[in-house]
Amino acid sequence: MILRELSLRGFRNYRQAEMTFDPGVNLIVGDNAQGKTNLLEAVCYLGSGKSFRAQRAGEMVCFGQEFADIRGTVFSQEREQSLRFVLFSGSKPRQMFRNGVKKRSLEEISGVLPTVLFCPEDLLILKTGSAQRRRFGDLALCQLRPNYDAALTEYNRILEQKSRILKDHFENPRLLELLPEYDLRLCQVGALVISYRARFYQALGKAARDYHREFSAGAEELGLEYKTVSTVDDPFAPTGVLTGKLMEHLQRHARAEQESGQCLTGPHKDDFTVRLSGMDLKTYGSQGQTRTAAISLKLAQRELMGREFGEEPVLLLDDVLSELDPRRQDFVLNQIVSGQVFITCCEPGRFTKLGKTIAIEKGRVLA
Ligand code: ATP
Ligand code: MG
Repeated sequence: MILRELSLRGFRNYRQAEMTFDPGVNLIVGDNAQGKTNLLEAVCYLGSGKSFRAQRAGEMVCFGQEFADIRGTVFSQEREQSLRFVLFSGSKPRQMFRNGVKKRSLEEISGVLPTVLFCPEDLLILKTGSAQRRRFGDLALCQLRPNYDAALTEYNRILEQKSRILKDHFENPRLLELLPEYDLRLCQVGALVISYRARFYQALGKAARDYHREFSAGAEELGLEYKTVSTVDDPFAPTGVLTGKLMEHLQRHARAEQESGQCLTGPHKDDFTVRLSGMDLKTYGSQGQTRTAAISLKLAQRELMGREFGEEPVLLLDDVLSELDPRRQDFVLNQIVSGQVFITCCEPGRFTKLGKTIAIEKGRVLA
């Protein structure tokens, strides 16, 4: 996929901007706080309908404006296509268009402009808390499988309702009568979530192992293990079986949930671990090993998406190269010989020769 043109109106600090891009490497340069990451956010949002940093769509609308308009022309699936999102500062729902036709679900724009974002925080995901790892996995999997996206949204919706019951039942005990129904739904949808994740992490681990082997010149063997609710001994089991296992765990913790007023069990607590030649990275890994493994995971994510869609996804490297030593920089750059890449940096230095340079200042593109 190649993003050819992008037009932004009222998006973050871009009042109005038009840009054209190189099919290869695009180097986005500028001082701090000029709009480099905002530009990558716009590209990511255009392709996925998701922001890697905004909690609400309204945050992306330029201060004082009523709406933001993001439009892009993409060469994808062997033809020119257009994508457009309109976001509103108030509660009005966003609008999305593909080739000028209004669409209702993300599924209908899926595969036109898949993106893989890589930022400095991603280098730490194997050391930090499980929430970041879930976010990493979910962002990737939602783009790969729109049905997973739908299941996860539904799961989170039920979870929120159940949380409210657990919080409010102290004052209103009759609410507990509703609980069995919510629990069953939660386990049914949770089973689906686990099913998708098990397959995704298996494929991701396999691809990451190959990258890491090459990266470490055969010295280290990367192993990725998906961790879910403890009663689930086989996450590949049919969803009916998984539902039963989730119910079993829930029943064991039902009392604790009611006493604490919190949802304590379910795939919203899922995680994954990475081992290098058997050693747990989170506990024992060195800084360098952790970074190398994180890069392998990112490249693996890109490969899975490329395989799924039959074209290279657009790679967005936000400030990440400058965080890496020259050997790791070269490894990443040598792996991305094809496909479109956006690289942001303050000091272009050794990267200027890579492709087209786009200079950004205060939300404007300098000619
Ligand atoms: P750095 O090199 O520090 O990462 P950057 O060029 O990536 O900088 P961005 O994160 O893109 O910078 O942000 C640029 C500016 O956008 C910030 O100064 C921020 O205040 C501004 N900004 C963020 N959201 C909005 C918004 N909704 N409306 C207007 N401006 C915004
Ligand atoms: Mg930035």
